[in-house]
Amino acid sequence: MDTAGWDHVPQQVSTGALPGWRDVERLVGDAHARFARDSDGIVADYIPVLAEVDPELFGLAVIEVGGGVHDAGDAQHPFSIQSISKMFVYALAIQEHGHERVREIVGVNNTGLPFNSVMALELNAGHPMNPMVNAGAIATTALMPGETSAEQWERVREGLSAFAGRALGLDGVVYASEARTNDRNRALGRLLTSYGRLEGDPDEVVDVYTRQCALAVTAHDLAVMGATLADGGVNPITGQRVVSAEVCRDTLAVVAASGLYERSGEWLFEIGLPAKSGVSGGIVAVAPGKGAVAGFSPRLDEAGNSVRSQRAIGYLSRALGLNLFASAPAAAPAPEESR
Ligand code: GLN
Repeated sequence: MDTAGWDHVPQQVSTGALPGWRDVERLVGDAHARFARDSDGIVADYIPVLAEVDPELFGLAVIEVGGGVHDAGDAQHPFSIQSISKMFVYALAIQEHGHERVREIVGVNNTGLPFNSVMALELNAGHPMNPMVNAGAIATTALMPGETSAEQWERVREGLSAFAGRALGLDGVVYASEARTNDRNRALGRLLTSYGRLEGDPDEVVDVYTRQCALAVTAHDLAVMGATLADGGVNPITGQRVVSAEVCRDTLAVVAASGLYERSGEWLFEIGLPAKSGVSGGIVAVAPGKGAVAGFSPRLDEAGNSVRSQRAIGYLSRALGLNLFASAPAAAPAPEESR
């Protein structure tokens, strides 16, 4: 798209405010209670160790850009971040290389196909199309600075830790399980190389990607990470600037289009927020200028998105007034007699 006519104009913001802390606290508790007994969906098992998780776990967290914290249920239970890492590594890649270069290399349009699709690459001459599916995420991880894959991994870990406001560590059991079974991701890496779209050794890049997916986080962490993207790139808990406001804007636009894979349109239609899911059961939704809502519950729909997290976040998006597309008339209609 030709942006020359307006890309020099300063970005003004377009957001409102959350309800008061007590109201948010009550609604987070309500959302947890409302879906606590919901048992729809099935736990992911294509990564062997993920199948062993307790399917009853259910955590919710909201972090406000003003620093307000709300945790409910298993909000402090650790799990591997999986695909949700894609959103934050993408933000780090744009911060490093800029909007244009990342757009060209990785793309921003939806594939309409499952997250691990090989066909999506083949249909698009090896172009990954967007950074929220595995091929695009592998191409994005390859953009992390570093002379060696160990340095790239360190950059990813440090960057995601800055988003979370604490040092995140690898879940070694998940990493080992996935590293033993990720032939499909290695195939995607090789295919990207064969199309000339990946720099470096594809197996090493996929290894960094596999590690990034195995970083252990909690729903609380995910909400802090999302709230950093809602807060113009400043972590609302630590006060550290992690990325620029422009990077947040760009990242959230791509996440809105493709964060829930082939369900992204449906999600935006029902819930109206950019959100990213992962196969271990996490989802984080970001309300720019307000905060972030994160859920963790291992049972998934067929696209690989946590069922209870979707429902609880949907409820909170409604109740907290987060849907980006919702508005009300500026002036209430005048009473009948004064017209
Ligand atoms: N590590 C997982 C994979 O590459 C992430 C997928 C996901 O969370 N959807 O298959």
